[in-house]
Amino acid sequence: MAQPNILSPDQYADLLKQAIEARNFAYVPYSNYKVGAALLTADGRVYQGCNVENAAYGPSMCAERVAVFKAVSEGVSDFVAIAVATVNGGTPCGVCRQVLREFAPELTVIIGDVEGNYKVFTLSDLLPHSFGPEHLLR
Ligand code: ZN
Repeated sequence: MAQPNILSPDQYADLLKQAIEARNFAYVPYSNYKVGAALLTADGRVYQGCNVENAAYGPSMCAERVAVFKAVSEGVSDFVAIAVATVNGGTPCGVCRQVLREFAPELTVIIGDVEGNYKVFTLSDLLPHSFGPEHLLR
């Protein structure tokens, strides 16, 4: 496993705290599984996201992608780290891993629970041998 160390333990804890905060806004009447995310950009901004479910299920959206799309829609796509908070330390789904990979193959990913416990990974730990823009023949 790669050892991401661009942030300090205090910074990991702070970003996770912001993910826990974002989790409070989760709209999850079907799964009742709240997820919060906090995405740190290179210029120091933090974009928060929560999961948003839908009665038709398919249109539901994960917290991580909400955070990414908020940032990209404002012209920001240079990402340093993302913290993801759930009740039990659940990991990002495969779709979110692929979306994060598009912008930051070596992103630092802090996966934590609501008590503040966390583990730190790189995106390449979570999505090895991934497919990205450089594979497309243009
Ligand atoms: Zn996801």
